[in-house]
Amino acid sequence: MTRTPISLDGFEVWFVTGSQDLYGEETLRQVAAQSQAVVAGLEGLPVRIVWKPVVKDADSIRRLALEVNARDDVIGVMAWMHTFSPAKMWIAGLHALQKPLLHLHTQADVELPWAEIDFDFMNLNQAAHGDREFGYIQTRLGVARKTVVGHVSHPSVRQQVEDWQRACAGWAASRSLKLARFGDNMRYVAVTEGDKTEAELRFGVQVNTWGVNDLARAITQAEPRAIDALVQEYADLYDVQPELLPGGERHRSLRDGAAIEIGLRSFLEEGGFGAFTTSFEDLGALPQLPGLAVQRLMADGYGFGAEGDWKTAVLVRIANVMGAGLAGGASLMEDYTYDLVPGDEKILGAHMLEVSPSISSEKARLEVHPLGIGGKDDPVRLVFTADPGPALVVAMSDMRDRFRLVANVVRNIEAPDLPNLPVGRAVWKPAPDFATSAACWLAAGAAHHTVMTTAVGLEVFRDFAEIARTELAVIDEATTVRGFQQELRWNQAYFRLAQGL
Ligand code: MN
Repeated sequence: MTRTPISLDGFEVWFVTGSQDLYGEETLRQVAAQSQAVVAGLEGLPVRIVWKPVVKDADSIRRLALEVNARDDVIGVMAWMHTFSPAKMWIAGLHALQKPLLHLHTQADVELPWAEIDFDFMNLNQAAHGDREFGYIQTRLGVARKTVVGHVSHPSVRQQVEDWQRACAGWAASRSLKLARFGDNMRYVAVTEGDKTEAELRFGVQVNTWGVNDLARAITQAEPRAIDALVQEYADLYDVQPELLPGGERHRSLRDGAAIEIGLRSFLEEGGFGAFTTSFEDLGALPQLPGLAVQRLMADGYGFGAEGDWKTAVLVRIANVMGAGLAGGASLMEDYTYDLVPGDEKILGAHMLEVSPSISSEKARLEVHPLGIGGKDDPVRLVFTADPGPALVVAMSDMRDRFRLVANVVRNIEAPDLPNLPVGRAVWKPAPDFATSAACWLAAGAAHHTVMTTAVGLEVFRDFAEIARTELAVIDEATTVRGFQQELRWNQAYFRLAQGL
């Protein structure tokens, strides 16, 4: 089976330089050349930046915005006012623009040639106030955007532009995401519920349900030869428990697991789905709870949420797209159990089965074990431990009138031996410390399911939240319980007001 990894190759962001007719041909020629040099200075970022001719009047700006809106491959716009571009000419264009915006506050050269500066130089290099005029109109219009300050040769400028590009890709993925739910939410659970119509309005994601037996039918259509090939792929990639291998006593369980993967994958591909959910309470004619298949699909870039949790499935998909091409991955995660040794507290995160092997570089073990719930055959699953290193967990809650994202910066650590735990897992320490993290998480009403990403950091999610105009409450090194509680109260007021009537 050949699978294409998620790629940002087909995407573009457009680079627009603002000016006006006042300066004459020679200066405008220099503006064009130097803005092309700025674009060239940002070469090599994950999304290609395309230079656009300098804009000088309201109509061309508005037309450019409409062109950007119409093109699915253009996922964002970067703007720079090298000279002075009177900002009333940007009103119509900024109103029309429906894609993410980055305001690059930069200058053509790093150093000023002090001894040579004349007034021609001053006329050309006036972003220092040209960009302030642009900042004013963006703020006056309430335009969501990222502002990046500095010369493009500076690594932190590049990194900030890259983070924003990744957030733009996440936004594009969200706007076009189709999510298939097999069965409903786990009965009586509150936080996995949510307003699916509001989600489509806010994030663009289409969330719809299919009967689990539609999936079961797709699984019965898996060809024996395709199952053989996939079993071989498993044997090549993983340490497979001997009784699961061909001729082994429990080989049937592995074949069932392979059939589930083939059927699920074809169902998702045929429907154009980028994310899905399952429910252990509604397995219909499935032979076992999908474990191995779900794990591998997440590692291939699909979003997934267990127990019908479509909101976390959206986050896993977005995190997978935003992390395209980077080391690490994204997975469904659940804070499972604590080690409460004072000063050395740890969280052991896992799920019944469904943790993505993309957060681990070790060779996973493929095993079969009984599962107390679900009432089906023992499911096959990959067993591994997440790599030590920086990570981020993010949850989405429906706060009735809006969605709230909560992110916690964490550090995955070397896990103690867990010889009797037959699931994929991660062991981490949350920032700023365990007690503060948990108290803030609980105060925010943040979910027990999260996406854990080891590929992208907090800034990418910050940019995503800004683009999506969605609350993001952050728990990191600087967080205190008191300050966080105040922030939640302010946010509550702000986000209600910001929605208007
Ligand atoms: Mn769960």
